[in-house]
Amino acid sequence: MIEVKNVTKKYGSFVAVDDISFTINDGEVVGFLGPNGAGKSTTMNIITGFIEQTEGNVVINGFDTVKKAKKAKKEIGYMPEGVPLYTDLTVKEFVTYMAELRKISKKEKKENVQKVLKETGLEEMQNKLIKNLSRGQKQRVSLAGTLVANPKILILDEPTVGLDPKQITEIRSLIKNLGKSHTVILSSHILSEVSQICDRVIIINKGKIVAIDTPENLEKKVSNNNIIYVTVEDTENKIDTIKDKIKGIKEIKLIKENEDNTKQYEISGEESINLNKTIFSEFAKENITIFEMKKAEATLEDAFMKIIKEGGDK
Ligand code: ADP
Ligand code: MG
Repeated sequence: MIEVKNVTKKYGSFVAVDDISFTINDGEVVGFLGPNGAGKSTTMNIITGFIEQTEGNVVINGFDTVKKAKKAKKEIGYMPEGVPLYTDLTVKEFVTYMAELRKISKKEKKENVQKVLKETGLEEMQNKLIKNLSRGQKQRVSLAGTLVANPKILILDEPTVGLDPKQITEIRSLIKNLGKSHTVILSSHILSEVSQICDRVIIINKGKIVAIDTPENLEKKVSNNNIIYVTVEDTENKIDTIKDKIKGIKEIKLIKENEDNTKQYEISGEESINLNKTIFSEFAKENITIFEMKKAEATLEDAFMKIIKEGGDK
């Protein structure tokens, strides 16, 4: 379990992380989501014990990151932003070096190195120099280095940044897999990413937590619940008068006119009415033919923008 309690980080008078608190349970995959400069990396660096908070405390599986730094660090595998720096080492040398840094036993070392190389799909290129690898391969080398000491918790800072779509898919599925046996915190400024990988999302903006919830709930929170798009044939333009006839319709907006004489409208209704049903029955009465009907779906993107805006207005 990761407990972050009232953590603040100041650089001089600048507050990079502002009194944040949250708990992450074993086995959870949690995403830190926020724009650049939000405080994601700073928070991760504090959790891993690489930098010290100005106020508050962090407890990792019972170990305080300041008072029991060594034990706390042992629980965590940290993959910093960017790719490994030791580019003149081979893949295997780098991962072995990472194992040595983490002081794992000689016997375990060899075994673990091969295990993680296999896990990250690097077995065949283990004797290649890191500098000759692609960006995506380098990212996997970094991940292998993070995994080699068998940490229970993985902290991955922007694991997909700079990768091409294929490499992103590979890393994502790797992380998803790792999430089955690890507690994972990853950061991202990409919304679709966290919604695909994470059980829970912590949205951070300007050093503050503005929301913590499941991706589904975040989407729901800001869903345009009662908006429907309909494509209709309405030669007599009856739709213009329908708004005043039907109770509970807030607005009917023309979206586009199609070449086949159909028109698409955005219709919004009061929360209290079943908009689907209303449209079906009332349009039929008016002889308006419905060609297509679909509910507006809120994306996490909408949620993000709305939540960040609300948080910023406080
Ligand atoms: P994120 O990872 O969300 O992009 P960071 O945690 O890296 O954000 O940075 C949060 C804020 O703290 C930024 O405004 C950044 O400029 C500032 N910051 C980070 N590290 C330092 C530092 N060592 N000294 C001064 N300011 C810093
Ligand atoms: Mg960062």
